Amino acid sequence: MALITQAIKGTQDVTPAESYKFRFIEQTCFETAHLFGFGELRTPVFEHTELFERGVGDTTDVVQKEMYTFTDKGGRSLTLRPEFTASAVRASVERGLIYDALPVKACYIGGCYRSEKPQAGRYREFHQFGVELYGAAAPAADAEVIALGMSALTELGIKKISLEINSIGCPECRAQYHNALREYYNQHLDSICDTCKERLERNPMRLLDCKAECCKEIAANAPRILDYICDDCRTHFNSVKTYLDAMGIDYKVNPSIVRGLDYYTRTVFEFISGDIGAQAAVGGGGRYDSLFRLLGGPDTPAVGFAMGIERIKMVMEAQGAEFPEPERPSIYLAPMGEAAIARCMALCRQLRDEGFAAETDLNGRSVKAQMKYADKRGFRYTCVIGDSELESGMVRIKNMETGEQTETNLATGILETLYDIGLSATLDNLNAAMEGFSGASDALSALLGDDD
Ligand code: ATP
Ligand code: MG
Repeated sequence: MALITQAIKGTQDVTPAESYKFRFIEQTCFETAHLFGFGELRTPVFEHTELFERGVGDTTDVVQKEMYTFTDKGGRSLTLRPEFTASAVRASVERGLIYDALPVKACYIGGCYRSEKPQAGRYREFHQFGVELYGAAAPAADAEVIALGMSALTELGIKKISLEINSIGCPECRAQYHNALREYYNQHLDSICDTCKERLERNPMRLLDCKAECCKEIAANAPRILDYICDDCRTHFNSVKTYLDAMGIDYKVNPSIVRGLDYYTRTVFEFISGDIGAQAAVGGGGRYDSLFRLLGGPDTPAVGFAMGIERIKMVMEAQGAEFPEPERPSIYLAPMGEAAIARCMALCRQLRDEGFAAETDLNGRSVKAQMKYADKRGFRYTCVIGDSELESGMVRIKNMETGEQTETNLATGILETLYDIGLSATLDNLNAAMEGFSGASDALSALLGDDD
Protein backbone atom coordinates (compact mmCIF):
# COMPACT_ATOMS: atom_id res chain seq x y z
CA MET A 1 0.00 0.00 0.00
CA ALA A 2 2.92 2.29 0.62
CA LEU A 3 3.09 2.95 -3.09
CA ILE A 4 -0.21 4.76 -3.18
CA THR A 5 -0.23 6.29 0.28
CA GLN A 6 3.21 7.83 0.30
CA ALA A 7 4.70 10.51 -1.90
CA ILE A 8 7.99 9.74 -3.63
CA LYS A 9 11.02 10.29 -1.41
CA GLY A 10 12.40 13.78 -1.82
CA THR A 11 9.12 15.27 -3.07
CA GLN A 12 6.75 17.47 -1.14
CA ASP A 13 3.05 18.18 -1.01
CA VAL A 14 2.18 21.77 -0.27
CA THR A 15 -1.12 22.19 1.51
CA PRO A 16 -3.23 25.36 1.37
CA ALA A 17 -1.90 26.29 4.82
CA GLU A 18 1.59 26.70 3.27
CA SER A 19 0.98 27.27 -0.42
CA TYR A 20 0.24 30.98 -0.03
CA LYS A 21 3.86 31.41 1.05
CA PHE A 22 5.12 29.90 -2.17
CA ARG A 23 2.65 31.98 -4.14
CA PHE A 24 3.95 35.11 -2.44
CA ILE A 25 7.54 34.21 -3.26
CA GLU A 26 6.70 33.41 -6.86
CA GLN A 27 4.68 36.55 -7.35
CA THR A 28 7.38 38.74 -5.83
CA CYS A 29 10.05 37.12 -8.01
CA PHE A 30 7.99 37.66 -11.17
CA GLU A 31 7.12 41.23 -10.22
CA THR A 32 10.78 42.06 -9.60
CA ALA A 33 11.79 40.45 -12.89
CA HIS A 34 9.08 42.49 -14.60
CA LEU A 35 10.58 45.71 -13.21
CA PHE A 36 13.81 44.78 -14.99
CA GLY A 37 11.97 43.98 -18.22
CA PHE A 38 12.01 40.19 -18.01
CA GLY A 39 9.07 38.21 -19.42
CA GLU A 40 8.11 34.70 -18.42
CA LEU A 41 9.36 31.81 -20.57
CA ARG A 42 7.69 28.42 -20.11
CA THR A 43 9.38 25.26 -21.34
CA PRO A 44 8.49 21.57 -21.05
CA VAL A 45 9.34 19.60 -17.93
CA PHE A 46 11.14 17.00 -20.06
CA GLU A 47 13.55 17.30 -22.95
CA HIS A 48 15.84 15.11 -25.02
CA THR A 49 18.50 13.74 -22.70
CA GLU A 50 21.20 14.98 -25.03
CA LEU A 51 20.19 18.60 -24.43
CA PHE A 52 21.20 18.33 -20.78
CA GLU A 53 24.19 16.09 -21.44
CA ARG A 54 25.60 18.76 -23.71
CA GLY A 55 24.09 21.85 -22.14
CA VAL A 56 24.85 21.07 -18.50
CA GLY A 57 27.98 19.12 -19.30
CA ASP A 58 28.70 15.43 -19.03
CA THR A 59 31.43 15.91 -16.43
CA THR A 60 29.06 17.56 -13.94
CA ASP A 61 27.47 15.90 -10.92
CA VAL A 62 24.08 16.78 -12.34
CA VAL A 63 24.62 14.75 -15.52
CA GLN A 64 26.82 12.05 -14.02
CA LYS A 65 24.72 11.27 -10.97
CA GLU A 66 21.51 13.22 -10.66
CA MET A 67 19.33 13.10 -13.77
CA TYR A 68 15.97 11.35 -14.02
CA THR A 69 16.37 9.74 -17.41
CA PHE A 70 13.96 7.28 -19.01
CA THR A 71 13.18 5.74 -22.34
CA ASP A 72 9.76 6.58 -23.75
CA LYS A 73 7.54 4.28 -25.81
CA GLY A 74 9.20 5.43 -29.01
CA GLY A 75 12.61 4.38 -27.69
CA ARG A 76 13.81 7.96 -27.17
CA SER A 77 15.91 8.88 -24.17
CA LEU A 78 14.20 11.70 -22.28
CA THR A 79 15.14 13.48 -19.06
CA LEU A 80 13.18 15.50 -16.50
CA ARG A 81 14.81 18.93 -16.45
CA PRO A 82 17.43 19.21 -13.69
CA GLU A 83 17.55 23.00 -14.37
CA PHE A 84 16.21 25.48 -16.90
CA THR A 85 19.19 27.08 -18.59
CA ALA A 86 19.68 24.52 -21.35
CA SER A 87 15.93 24.45 -22.07
CA ALA A 88 15.77 28.23 -22.19
CA VAL A 89 18.63 28.37 -24.69
CA ARG A 90 17.00 25.69 -26.85
CA ALA A 91 13.65 27.46 -26.76
CA SER A 92 15.15 30.85 -27.54
CA VAL A 93 16.83 29.50 -30.65
CA GLU A 94 13.91 27.32 -31.73
CA ARG A 95 11.33 30.10 -31.21
CA GLY A 96 13.59 32.75 -32.69
CA LEU A 97 13.70 35.00 -29.63
CA ILE A 98 17.37 35.76 -30.22
CA TYR A 99 16.65 37.02 -33.75
CA ASP A 100 14.40 39.74 -32.34
CA ALA A 101 15.29 42.80 -30.26
CA LEU A 102 18.36 42.16 -28.11
CA PRO A 103 18.94 41.60 -25.32
CA VAL A 104 16.36 38.88 -24.75
CA LYS A 105 15.24 38.94 -21.12
CA ALA A 106 13.47 35.80 -19.95
CA CYS A 107 12.52 34.53 -16.52
CA TYR A 108 10.94 31.32 -15.26
CA ILE A 109 9.65 29.47 -12.23
CA GLY A 110 9.06 25.74 -12.17
CA GLY A 111 9.93 22.29 -10.91
CA CYS A 112 13.37 20.73 -11.40
CA TYR A 113 14.31 17.11 -10.82
CA ARG A 114 17.54 15.72 -9.45
CA SER A 115 18.12 12.32 -7.96
CA GLU A 116 20.05 13.45 -4.91
CA LYS A 117 20.05 12.27 -1.31
CA PRO A 118 17.07 14.07 0.26
CA GLN A 119 17.87 16.21 3.31
CA ALA A 120 17.03 19.65 4.67
CA GLY A 121 17.03 22.04 1.70
CA ARG A 122 17.78 19.27 -0.78
CA TYR A 123 14.95 17.53 -2.58
CA ARG A 124 14.41 15.41 -5.66
CA GLU A 125 11.69 17.71 -6.89
CA PHE A 126 12.39 21.35 -6.12
CA HIS A 127 11.52 24.65 -7.74
CA GLN A 128 13.66 27.33 -9.26
CA PHE A 129 13.18 30.98 -10.03
CA GLY A 130 15.66 32.08 -12.64
CA VAL A 131 16.39 34.69 -15.25
CA GLU A 132 18.40 34.58 -18.45
CA LEU A 133 19.65 37.55 -20.46
CA TYR A 134 20.82 36.83 -24.03
CA GLY A 135 22.67 38.96 -26.55
CA ALA A 136 24.59 41.30 -24.23
CA ALA A 137 28.30 40.71 -23.77
CA ALA A 138 29.04 43.84 -21.75
CA PRO A 139 29.74 43.60 -18.01
CA ALA A 140 26.69 45.80 -17.33
CA ALA A 141 24.54 42.78 -18.19
CA ASP A 142 26.23 40.68 -15.49
CA ALA A 143 25.72 43.43 -12.91
CA GLU A 144 22.09 43.92 -13.99
CA VAL A 145 21.27 40.25 -13.53
CA ILE A 146 22.96 40.18 -10.11
CA ALA A 147 21.04 43.32 -9.14
CA LEU A 148 17.78 41.63 -10.14
CA GLY A 149 18.56 38.67 -7.90
CA MET A 150 19.40 40.93 -4.98
CA SER A 151 16.26 43.01 -5.51
CA ALA A 152 14.04 39.94 -5.49
CA LEU A 153 15.57 38.71 -2.22
CA THR A 154 15.34 42.15 -0.64
CA GLU A 155 11.76 42.58 -1.81
CA LEU A 156 10.94 39.28 -0.08
CA GLY A 157 12.15 40.74 3.20
CA ILE A 158 15.45 38.88 3.32
CA LYS A 159 17.82 41.19 5.13
CA LYS A 160 20.94 39.13 5.39
CA ILE A 161 22.29 37.40 2.33
CA SER A 162 25.82 37.41 1.05
CA LEU A 163 26.71 37.80 -2.56
CA GLU A 164 29.94 36.09 -3.57
CA ILE A 165 31.45 36.66 -6.98
CA ASN A 166 34.35 35.37 -8.99
CA SER A 167 35.61 35.24 -12.55
CA ILE A 168 36.49 31.89 -14.09
CA GLY A 169 37.94 33.46 -17.22
CA CYS A 170 37.38 32.49 -20.83
CA PRO A 171 38.39 29.30 -22.69
CA GLU A 172 41.75 30.89 -23.59
CA CYS A 173 42.94 31.85 -20.13
CA ARG A 174 41.35 28.79 -18.62
CA ALA A 175 43.58 26.42 -20.61
CA GLN A 176 46.60 27.62 -18.69
CA TYR A 177 44.72 27.37 -15.41
CA HIS A 178 43.61 23.83 -16.23
CA ASN A 179 47.23 22.82 -16.62
CA ALA A 180 48.13 24.33 -13.26
CA LEU A 181 45.21 22.50 -11.65
CA ARG A 182 46.14 19.16 -13.21
CA GLU A 183 49.67 19.56 -11.98
CA TYR A 184 48.43 20.34 -8.48
CA TYR A 185 45.91 17.51 -8.32
CA ASN A 186 48.32 14.98 -9.75
CA GLN A 187 50.32 15.48 -6.57
CA HIS A 188 47.23 14.61 -4.51
CA LEU A 189 45.76 11.74 -6.50
CA ASP A 190 45.65 9.44 -3.47
CA SER A 191 43.50 11.85 -1.48
CA ILE A 192 40.68 12.67 -3.93
CA CYS A 193 37.45 10.77 -4.63
CA ASP A 194 37.13 8.33 -7.54
CA THR A 195 34.79 10.57 -9.55
CA CYS A 196 37.35 13.34 -9.36
CA LYS A 197 40.19 11.06 -10.42
CA GLU A 198 38.20 10.32 -13.56
CA ARG A 199 37.28 13.90 -14.41
CA LEU A 200 40.67 15.42 -13.65
CA GLU A 201 41.88 15.05 -17.23
CA ARG A 202 38.75 16.30 -18.95
CA ASN A 203 37.56 19.00 -16.60
CA PRO A 204 39.87 19.79 -13.70
CA MET A 205 37.85 22.79 -12.50
CA ARG A 206 35.01 20.47 -11.61
CA LEU A 207 37.19 19.11 -8.80
CA LEU A 208 37.01 22.46 -7.00
CA ASP A 209 33.26 22.06 -6.72
CA CYS A 210 33.24 18.46 -5.45
CA LYS A 211 31.15 17.98 -2.31
CA ALA A 212 33.19 15.03 -0.98
CA GLU A 213 34.97 15.93 2.28
CA CYS A 214 38.34 14.61 1.10
CA CYS A 215 38.16 16.73 -2.06
CA LYS A 216 37.06 19.89 -0.22
CA GLU A 217 40.28 19.85 1.80
CA ILE A 218 42.47 19.48 -1.26
CA ALA A 219 40.49 22.16 -3.14
CA ALA A 220 41.16 24.71 -0.40
CA ASN A 221 44.83 24.97 -1.35
CA ALA A 222 44.50 24.60 -5.12
CA PRO A 223 45.78 27.31 -7.49
CA ARG A 224 43.31 30.15 -7.95
CA ILE A 225 41.77 31.13 -11.24
CA LEU A 226 42.00 34.87 -10.54
CA ASP A 227 45.80 34.55 -10.76
CA TYR A 228 45.44 33.20 -14.30
CA ILE A 229 42.73 35.21 -16.07
CA CYS A 230 43.67 37.27 -19.13
CA ASP A 231 43.53 41.08 -19.36
CA ASP A 232 40.16 41.15 -21.12
CA CYS A 233 38.59 38.91 -18.50
CA ARG A 234 40.11 40.97 -15.71
CA THR A 235 38.81 44.22 -17.21
CA HIS A 236 35.35 42.65 -17.54
CA PHE A 237 35.43 41.49 -13.92
CA ASN A 238 36.57 44.90 -12.68
CA SER A 239 33.70 46.59 -14.53
CA VAL A 240 31.16 44.21 -13.00
CA LYS A 241 32.51 45.16 -9.57
CA THR A 242 32.42 48.88 -10.43
CA TYR A 243 28.75 48.64 -11.45
CA LEU A 244 27.83 46.70 -8.32
CA ASP A 245 29.59 49.36 -6.25
CA ALA A 246 27.70 52.08 -8.11
CA MET A 247 24.39 50.37 -7.30
CA GLY A 248 25.37 49.98 -3.66
CA ILE A 249 25.35 46.19 -3.82
CA ASP A 250 27.72 44.53 -1.36
CA TYR A 251 29.72 41.52 -2.47
CA LYS A 252 32.70 39.46 -1.57
CA VAL A 253 35.15 38.09 -4.11
CA ASN A 254 35.39 34.36 -3.45
CA PRO A 255 38.06 32.80 -5.68
CA SER A 256 36.83 29.29 -5.00
CA ILE A 257 33.44 29.68 -6.66
CA VAL A 258 33.49 27.77 -9.95
CA ARG A 259 29.82 26.65 -10.13
CA GLY A 260 28.85 23.07 -10.77
CA LEU A 261 27.98 23.48 -14.42
CA ASP A 262 30.28 23.37 -17.40
CA TYR A 263 29.00 26.24 -19.46
CA TYR A 264 30.08 29.21 -17.38
CA THR A 265 32.56 31.82 -18.62
CA ARG A 266 33.91 34.86 -16.80
CA THR A 267 31.52 36.07 -14.08
CA VAL A 268 30.13 33.52 -11.63
CA PHE A 269 28.27 34.31 -8.44
CA GLU A 270 26.31 32.80 -5.58
CA PHE A 271 23.78 34.07 -3.08
CA ILE A 272 24.67 32.46 0.23
CA SER A 273 22.77 32.40 3.51
CA GLY A 274 24.23 31.64 6.90
CA ASP A 275 20.77 30.91 8.27
CA ILE A 276 19.77 27.61 6.68
CA GLY A 277 22.46 25.10 7.55
CA ALA A 278 24.55 23.01 5.21
CA GLN A 279 22.59 23.73 2.03
CA ALA A 280 23.56 27.38 2.18
CA ALA A 281 23.39 28.31 -1.52
CA VAL A 282 20.12 30.11 -2.16
CA GLY A 283 21.02 30.70 -5.76
CA GLY A 284 23.79 31.01 -8.22
CA GLY A 285 24.56 31.97 -11.74
CA GLY A 286 26.97 33.54 -14.10
CA ARG A 287 27.91 34.28 -17.67
CA TYR A 288 27.86 31.47 -20.21
CA ASP A 289 28.94 32.87 -23.55
CA SER A 290 29.73 29.50 -25.11
CA LEU A 291 26.51 27.62 -24.42
CA PHE A 292 24.54 28.75 -27.47
CA ARG A 293 27.21 27.51 -29.83
CA LEU A 294 27.65 24.33 -27.85
CA LEU A 295 23.97 23.59 -28.41
CA GLY A 296 24.15 24.29 -32.13
CA GLY A 297 22.83 27.85 -32.00
CA PRO A 298 24.44 31.07 -33.19
CA ASP A 299 27.13 32.63 -31.01
CA THR A 300 25.16 34.54 -28.37
CA PRO A 301 26.52 35.93 -25.12
CA ALA A 302 24.38 35.04 -22.12
CA VAL A 303 24.17 35.58 -18.39
CA GLY A 304 21.66 34.40 -15.79
CA PHE A 305 20.99 32.85 -12.42
CA ALA A 306 18.70 30.36 -10.71
CA MET A 307 17.51 30.31 -7.12
CA GLY A 308 15.84 27.55 -5.17
CA ILE A 309 12.33 28.60 -4.13
CA GLU A 310 12.33 26.16 -1.18
CA ARG A 311 15.62 27.58 0.06
CA ILE A 312 14.32 31.15 -0.32
CA LYS A 313 11.39 30.15 1.88
CA MET A 314 13.74 28.58 4.44
CA VAL A 315 15.79 31.78 4.64
CA MET A 316 12.66 33.91 4.98
CA GLU A 317 11.38 31.72 7.80
CA ALA A 318 14.77 31.68 9.53
CA GLN A 319 14.95 35.48 9.35
CA GLY A 320 11.34 36.03 10.36
CA ALA A 321 10.37 37.68 7.07
CA GLU A 322 6.66 38.22 6.63
CA PHE A 323 4.41 36.27 4.30
CA PRO A 324 1.24 38.30 3.75
CA GLU A 325 -1.56 35.98 4.76
CA PRO A 326 -4.45 35.43 2.37
CA GLU A 327 -7.52 37.61 2.92
CA ARG A 328 -10.04 36.11 5.33
CA PRO A 329 -13.26 35.13 3.55
CA SER A 330 -15.91 37.86 3.73
CA ILE A 331 -19.23 36.30 4.56
CA TYR A 332 -20.83 32.99 5.39
CA LEU A 333 -24.56 32.61 4.69
CA ALA A 334 -26.12 29.98 6.93
CA PRO A 335 -29.41 28.58 5.58
CA MET A 336 -31.94 27.21 8.02
CA GLY A 337 -34.46 25.00 6.24
CA GLU A 338 -34.85 23.84 2.68
CA ALA A 339 -36.23 27.08 1.18
CA ALA A 340 -33.28 29.10 2.42
CA ILE A 341 -30.67 26.89 0.73
CA ALA A 342 -31.57 28.02 -2.78
CA ARG A 343 -31.72 31.63 -1.64
CA CYS A 344 -28.30 31.42 -0.01
CA MET A 345 -26.79 29.84 -3.11
CA ALA A 346 -28.24 32.58 -5.29
CA LEU A 347 -26.98 35.26 -2.91
CA CYS A 348 -23.49 33.74 -2.83
CA ARG A 349 -23.37 33.85 -6.58
CA GLN A 350 -24.32 37.49 -6.58
CA LEU A 351 -21.79 38.35 -3.88
CA ARG A 352 -18.97 36.55 -5.68
CA ASP A 353 -19.81 38.38 -8.88
CA GLU A 354 -19.09 41.53 -6.91
CA GLY A 355 -15.77 40.17 -5.69
CA PHE A 356 -16.73 39.05 -2.18
CA ALA A 357 -15.56 35.67 -0.92
CA ALA A 358 -18.90 34.16 0.10
CA GLU A 359 -19.84 30.61 1.08
CA THR A 360 -22.87 28.72 2.21
CA ASP A 361 -23.66 25.29 3.68
CA LEU A 362 -22.98 22.28 1.44
CA ASN A 363 -23.54 19.59 4.06
CA GLY A 364 -27.10 20.09 5.30
CA ARG A 365 -25.76 20.86 8.77
CA SER A 366 -27.46 22.52 11.72
CA VAL A 367 -26.95 26.26 12.13
CA LYS A 368 -24.84 25.60 15.21
CA ALA A 369 -22.50 23.31 13.23
CA GLN A 370 -22.36 25.83 10.40
CA MET A 371 -21.34 28.60 12.78
CA LYS A 372 -18.58 26.44 14.16
CA TYR A 373 -17.32 25.93 10.61
CA ALA A 374 -17.56 29.66 9.80
CA ASP A 375 -15.63 30.46 12.94
CA LYS A 376 -12.91 27.92 12.20
CA ARG A 377 -12.50 29.20 8.66
CA GLY A 378 -12.20 32.77 9.90
CA PHE A 379 -15.16 34.38 8.10
CA ARG A 380 -15.44 38.10 8.90
CA TYR A 381 -19.26 38.12 8.78
CA THR A 382 -22.04 35.57 9.00
CA CYS A 383 -25.72 35.78 8.28
CA VAL A 384 -28.41 33.23 9.19
CA ILE A 385 -31.27 32.96 6.73
CA GLY A 386 -34.33 30.91 7.70
CA ASP A 387 -38.06 30.91 7.05
CA SER A 388 -38.68 33.99 9.20
CA GLU A 389 -36.00 36.00 7.36
CA LEU A 390 -37.44 34.94 4.03
CA GLU A 391 -40.86 36.04 5.19
CA SER A 392 -39.87 39.36 6.74
CA GLY A 393 -37.27 40.17 4.08
CA MET A 394 -34.87 41.34 6.80
CA VAL A 395 -31.61 39.71 7.97
CA ARG A 396 -28.91 40.34 10.55
CA ILE A 397 -25.27 40.44 9.52
CA LYS A 398 -22.99 39.48 12.35
CA ASN A 399 -19.46 40.76 12.74
CA MET A 400 -17.63 37.64 13.93
CA GLU A 401 -14.95 39.63 15.71
CA THR A 402 -17.09 42.02 17.75
CA GLY A 403 -20.33 40.06 17.80
CA GLU A 404 -22.09 43.25 16.65
CA GLN A 405 -25.17 42.69 14.47
CA THR A 406 -26.47 44.92 11.70
CA GLU A 407 -30.04 44.53 10.50
CA THR A 408 -30.53 44.95 6.80
CA ASN A 409 -32.71 44.12 3.83
CA LEU A 410 -32.35 40.57 2.52
CA ALA A 411 -32.69 41.43 -1.15
CA THR A 412 -30.35 44.41 -1.38
CA GLY A 413 -28.90 45.01 2.05
CA ILE A 414 -26.20 42.34 2.29
CA LEU A 415 -24.25 43.65 -0.64
CA GLU A 416 -24.76 47.24 0.49
CA THR A 417 -23.62 46.47 4.00
CA LEU A 418 -20.49 44.77 2.74
CA TYR A 419 -19.80 47.72 0.48
CA ASP A 420 -20.31 50.08 3.40
CA ILE A 421 -17.76 48.14 5.39
CA GLY A 422 -15.49 48.37 2.37
CA LEU A 423 -14.81 44.68 2.53
CA SER A 424 -13.86 42.79 -0.57
CA ALA A 425 -11.00 40.51 -1.42
CA THR A 426 -11.00 41.91 -4.93
CA LEU A 427 -11.18 45.51 -3.78
CA ASP A 428 -8.34 44.95 -1.32
CA ASN A 429 -6.22 43.50 -4.08
CA LEU A 430 -7.09 46.40 -6.34
CA ASN A 431 -6.17 48.89 -3.63
CA ALA A 432 -2.88 47.17 -3.02
CA ALA A 433 -2.14 47.23 -6.73
CA MET A 434 -3.01 50.92 -6.91
CA GLU A 435 -0.67 51.66 -3.99
CA GLY A 436 2.04 49.86 -5.90
CA PHE A 437 1.43 52.00 -8.93
CA SER A 438 1.36 55.28 -7.04
CA GLY A 439 4.55 54.18 -5.22
CA ALA A 440 6.18 53.58 -8.57
CA SER A 441 5.08 56.91 -9.98
CA ASP A 442 6.26 58.71 -6.83
CA ALA A 443 9.65 57.15 -7.27
CA LEU A 444 9.62 58.18 -10.90
CA SER A 445 8.71 61.77 -10.06
CA ALA A 446 11.47 61.87 -7.48
CA LEU A 447 13.96 60.68 -10.08
CA LEU A 448 12.77 63.21 -12.60
CA GLY A 449 12.99 65.93 -9.98
CA ASP A 450 9.25 66.49 -10.15
CA ASP A 451 8.19 67.99 -6.83
CA ASP A 452 4.43 67.49 -6.94
P1 ATP B 1 24.10 22.75 -4.39
O1 ATP B 1 25.49 23.25 -4.23
O2 ATP B 1 23.23 23.07 -3.22
O3 ATP B 1 24.00 21.33 -4.85
P2 ATP B 1 23.84 23.48 -7.13
O4 ATP B 1 25.12 24.16 -7.45
O5 ATP B 1 23.65 22.08 -7.54
O6 ATP B 1 23.50 23.64 -5.57
P3 ATP B 1 22.36 25.01 -9.04
O7 ATP B 1 22.40 23.96 -10.07
O8 ATP B 1 23.18 26.20 -9.20
O9 ATP B 1 22.62 24.34 -7.62
O10 ATP B 1 20.85 25.45 -8.79
C1 ATP B 1 20.51 26.75 -8.32
C2 ATP B 1 19.77 26.68 -7.01
O11 ATP B 1 18.77 25.69 -7.01
C3 ATP B 1 20.65 26.30 -5.81
O12 ATP B 1 21.37 27.41 -5.34
C4 ATP B 1 19.62 25.84 -4.81
O13 ATP B 1 19.00 26.93 -4.15
C5 ATP B 1 18.60 25.17 -5.69
N1 ATP B 1 18.80 23.71 -5.68
C6 ATP B 1 19.68 22.98 -6.39
N2 ATP B 1 19.54 21.68 -6.15
C7 ATP B 1 18.54 21.57 -5.24
C8 ATP B 1 17.89 20.48 -4.59
N3 ATP B 1 18.24 19.23 -4.82
N4 ATP B 1 16.89 20.76 -3.72
C9 ATP B 1 16.51 22.02 -3.47
N5 ATP B 1 17.05 23.08 -4.05
C10 ATP B 1 18.06 22.87 -4.93
MG1 MG C 1 23.84 20.26 -6.59
